[in-house]
Amino acid sequence: MHLGITGKRALVCAGSKGLGRGSAEALAAAGVHLVLNARGVEALEATAAAIRAAHGVAVTTVAADITTEAGRTEVLAAAGAVDILVTNAGGPPPGNWADWGRDDYIRALDANMLTPIALMTALLPAMMAKSWGRVVNITSASVKSPIGQLGLSNTARTGLTGFVAGTARQVAERGVVINNLLPGIHDTNRATALDADVMRAQGITMEAARRARVASIPARRYGTAAEFGAVCAFLCSQHAGYMIGQNILLDGGAFNSTF
Ligand code: NAP
Repeated sequence: MHLGITGKRALVCAGSKGLGRGSAEALAAAGVHLVLNARGVEALEATAAAIRAAHGVAVTTVAADITTEAGRTEVLAAAGAVDILVTNAGGPPPGNWADWGRDDYIRALDANMLTPIALMTALLPAMMAKSWGRVVNITSASVKSPIGQLGLSNTARTGLTGFVAGTARQVAERGVVINNLLPGIHDTNRATALDADVMRAQGITMEAARRARVASIPARRYGTAAEFGAVCAFLCSQHAGYMIGQNILLDGGAFNSTF
């Protein structure tokens, strides 16, 4: 399917690895030029070089922490008036509600709620002025189905989801489309870290932790960054113009519901 976004420009945050990289690659495959962000320079430059070589698009890199104001200022200066925004950042650490204090919540809110809101606040006006824009926020399946030990993620991402629900409907008449993409377990460093946490907590091997998780997913496997990226690129395409403020779950069927 031709996505109709060749020549557009996208800012992809936290995009040197994992789901952000999958999204960047799928957008580049559709002919979209990129501003690509992550903190670590080495992986960022390697990913940018691989994308340029594979797809022939322009890739500008900005090594910065997107969850800080200084980092966002740098990224936004390089991005200018992009057509497409993919928000993403690392997820909060696992733990227990009884141990979290105000500082833990502030960190999680900064990273997974206030950062994407700040990026949308900065970039939506130019999209509205051009009567075209696409925003995809990478959130989590934990928004629909809470994961106890990821309470910081449940909390911060639900706040973002509320912001998007209202704002998407305010900007839709100006040709700007905002949706959230909710990953269940995908085969990335984040999944490895979560499995390692289960391994330590339950005193089992990594293989056993992974086997148990796979058994809980109807598709009986972890998702891939490439298939996640393809859905992200579709949400950024011309075809998604009537899809407003939705929360799209990509979880291999793990969330058990009729609707
Ligand atoms: P990942 O494979 O660990 O990749 C994370 C990417 O984000 C890396 O490129 C990393 O590069 C970058 N990054 C992290 N913190 C950043 C920051 N503060 N500023 C800029 N870049 C940053 O993780 P992933 O699996 O793709 O996960 C992406 C998001 O989806 C996370 O929020 C995660 O919690 C959520 N999620 C993932 C899964 C899953 O199964 N994978 C499931 C549900 C939700 P640097 O470290 O160099 O900055």
